[in-house]
Amino acid sequence: MIQAILDIVRNNVTREKTLLCPDQASAKFIQRQLLRHEKGLINLHFEGVAACISRSLGFFMIERRAKSLKPGEGLLILQEMVSPDGYFAASREMPGFMQAMWQSVQQLRLAGIKPEQLTPAILGNDRKAAELGELLRKFSDYLKANALFDYPRILEECLFQKAMAGKGHLILLPGNLPLMPIERQVLEQAGDQLVLLPWSAPEDIHLPASWRSEKRRVAFSGKATACLPNNAELQLFAATEPQAEIREIIRQIRASGLPFEQVAIAPADPAGYAGLLTANLGIAGIPHAVSLSYRSEEFKPGRLAMNLCRWASDGFPADGLIAMLSQGDMRLFRPLTKKEAAAGKRQVSSQQIIKMLRESHIYGGRDGYEKSLLAVGDEAASRGHPEILKRCRRVAKAIQFLIDSFPEKIAPGAMAMNLHLLLKKFTRISGEDDARRLARVKRRLEEYRNTQAAEMPLGRVMWWLLLILGLDSETEPFKPDGRVLVTSPEAAVLSQRKLLFFPGMSHSAVPGSAGTDPVVPDFSRKLLPPLKTAEESRYEAIGRFSTAWAEITDDTRIFVSFAMVDPGGRAASPSELFTRALRQKTGGSGEFSKMLNTAALPLIGHLADNAMAAVDLCEWLWRRQIHGCSRDELRALFEETYPTWKRHAAAQANRSAGASEVANGIHGWNSAAWDFRDHPERSLSASGIDELSGCPFAYFLGHVVGCMPSEQVDTVDAGLQGWLDAMQRGNLLHEIYEIFLQRAGWPVTEKHAGLLEDVVEEVAARYRILVPPAGISAYEVGRAQIRRDALEFFTGECQAAAAGEAKPVGYELFFGMTLPEGKINPLGLDTAEAVPFKMEDGRVVRLKGKIDRIDETSDGLKIWDYKTGSPKKFLKGGVQEEKAQLQLALYKYAVARMLAERGDPRRVVGSGLYFPTENGQRQRIVMENGDENQIINERLAGVFDFLVDGRFAASGPCEECNAMNLCPYAMLFNGGEEEVKGDDD
Ligand code: SF4
Repeated sequence: MIQAILDIVRNNVTREKTLLCPDQASAKFIQRQLLRHEKGLINLHFEGVAACISRSLGFFMIERRAKSLKPGEGLLILQEMVSPDGYFAASREMPGFMQAMWQSVQQLRLAGIKPEQLTPAILGNDRKAAELGELLRKFSDYLKANALFDYPRILEECLFQKAMAGKGHLILLPGNLPLMPIERQVLEQAGDQLVLLPWSAPEDIHLPASWRSEKRRVAFSGKATACLPNNAELQLFAATEPQAEIREIIRQIRASGLPFEQVAIAPADPAGYAGLLTANLGIAGIPHAVSLSYRSEEFKPGRLAMNLCRWASDGFPADGLIAMLSQGDMRLFRPLTKKEAAAGKRQVSSQQIIKMLRESHIYGGRDGYEKSLLAVGDEAASRGHPEILKRCRRVAKAIQFLIDSFPEKIAPGAMAMNLHLLLKKFTRISGEDDARRLARVKRRLEEYRNTQAAEMPLGRVMWWLLLILGLDSETEPFKPDGRVLVTSPEAAVLSQRKLLFFPGMSHSAVPGSAGTDPVVPDFSRKLLPPLKTAEESRYEAIGRFSTAWAEITDDTRIFVSFAMVDPGGRAASPSELFTRALRQKTGGSGEFSKMLNTAALPLIGHLADNAMAAVDLCEWLWRRQIHGCSRDELRALFEETYPTWKRHAAAQANRSAGASEVANGIHGWNSAAWDFRDHPERSLSASGIDELSGCPFAYFLGHVVGCMPSEQVDTVDAGLQGWLDAMQRGNLLHEIYEIFLQRAGWPVTEKHAGLLEDVVEEVAARYRILVPPAGISAYEVGRAQIRRDALEFFTGECQAAAAGEAKPVGYELFFGMTLPEGKINPLGLDTAEAVPFKMEDGRVVRLKGKIDRIDETSDGLKIWDYKTGSPKKFLKGGVQEEKAQLQLALYKYAVARMLAERGDPRRVVGSGLYFPTENGQRQRIVMENGDENQIINERLAGVFDFLVDGRFAASGPCEECNAMNLCPYAMLFNGGEEEVKGDDD
């Protein structure tokens, strides 16, 4: 074929010539081969069949002011034409049905089937035949009335006008290029200007009947037994899953010792495989060039566009938003300019947003974000963090803007433009490639700006947008030199590389996924030639490979493979082409199940032992172990091969011996800013003191460097949990206790039972909005438990009131913190002022906190802290005992000081923990050690040492530390052994 093209090029220098090619990469490789023989190619263009034919009608379309029908536009038009009361009414809303209808109409038009040919005898139903014929007619009339051209109409018009005739330029048609009958008719009108390029295939190679045209093909004997040239060096393998298949390809590339530019991979299903393939090649460090029509979804902007559509169709769920943010495709806020960053402005990061969404346990929905986010913000503000409230407001506003861009009803063209705006605003761009791809997706959406379809429900518009975005594909510019080529089968063969891989040869990928058409079934198609049946479509897909493979040269090694499950995890079977190749190789029956896991057809798992190079460390170790390496030999070999690991072991030994440096502050370290002593702006709560007296390295990571949240991140799956987490449940019960006691007054008696029920209902209903439950039953179960806990509390209060021992006089009392609006305490002690505490060295720290309850007894005041969990960990020796001691000592000290300052003669005579829930059985743990000054002093001793020496020595305990999985000290403080203990490991 190359020689024929060269002859034509040399003898027709001044004439325009168009070589028809299956794809861009094939054109590139044909051009390279031609350039090896000819210094320059003059007047030679490379083009696809559809582009060449459409171009021939160019002037006619301009004169008529006609427009091409854009992908997906025809579907909208057709959708309006299907009668809601007709034969197809019931199927109309079925997912995928309208798309199938659109494809059938296109195929009928491409095959030149007229409406009158659709008879009841052919379609098997009177109404169906009449309505389908009517649809064909209406659709054709609509195109004519609106000067619109789809590909079948372009072909029809070309045929009518003889558009290809007398153009004067040569059209070179390779013999192996698949054509539809009508395309062939159009091209043949070029007469002598159409040059059929020779193409030969072995006689017994398998090809579909529709391609066996005498004019274009050599004569076939009809014995279609082979699928690959007999002289090809063929190897086959099956893999347990696609990842194992790709790893085997990587091993074979390495084991071959060939330069990368001698390798090409042609996946049978590029859409399903290309992403996985290129990701694995990237991880293995193999340079590669991709020349495939990528779906939009393979890249960031297209993926975000489709995910936004799915998110809107699913009702804006929070996990969908989190997925888009954590994938890195989306950012809710633009990055700061250098000037803004230098001015100290802070932007809300995606990680912070994800944390906010998780902590607030938002389930999502059109109105499901704002209230919950603001509740989180309010709660943080009440703890003295107004900046978090500000952040929550900004996030809530941005999410609301996002949701408002998807109205309940909208015209498709308007929604395309809304999506255009959202992508412009929210896509995270991290390089030129992203910017180019974003511009392309936006251009594509802009094309639909003036689409003339009426408003429709959001779900339908989203479905349509998903369709047009899914149809969109792009060939990225590629530079194949020095790299492994990932491309189509035609281009892989034309590249003339020495090692070719054809992975993913499963049944669903290779003969195409031609399923039964619900609109024009196969029995009708048989009666309507040249409409293709599913089987004929499948054979054409096989034919595509066969015609490409026929060109494979003698010295090429070929690997044909398939995975037993597809990338989605569904079981897969080998394609007919694969079993033919197996038969050709083994010469026998080629029965797959009998051959599997034999030398002719090895089965490759995740770790394979059939090539020289291990893909990764795991496989490296495994290989050597099964080849008889002892543990010690293995370790020595391992440390020699991976010196970094050896260095890690030495560093850990140093850390364990206390010989390694622990962080010494940070660059530009301003120790004064971290000092709580004698600082009028800084105040400490009990948990703040607890944190300061914990691991200094954790404090350094959480506060000084700010690289991890200082409070432990809750990773409980909200869906599994049902409704409230432990913290939210505790807050809710605290509110019930407070509101009930305020409203009931004292003494509480049985007659207040109804009031308690009302308060439970009121507070639970409010939390239901703040934290939407997983479902009705989750809410019912959660509320019933809360009611039981509230009743337990109520019983306790009734008994206490009857005994007349104590009377509550203070609830949720704040000091050193902003007071909630409208809050009044009978004790009158709430104050935003922090309470000073003089340490033993004479310096002062300012204290803050929130006291759950103060009771008045005949002896004096008693302070109680409600606990809604189990008392066990607060008992003597329990993990929370010390923390509780400090908390109560601090409260006791603060209340005594505030009373004294006001000249109130009452004294604080005790403090303790109160467990008023069903689980806590109304237990009270009274604080035994009464010397609160001593307790606070002891806990503050040495906590500011880091200000003096700047060292943040690690100390554990690590169980509740966010850094546990990455901190090099965690293993040491947890007593974790890094040595492998036995052979079983
Ligand atoms: S993991 Fe342990 S040692 Fe490391 S920072 Fe956290 S508490 Fe400290």
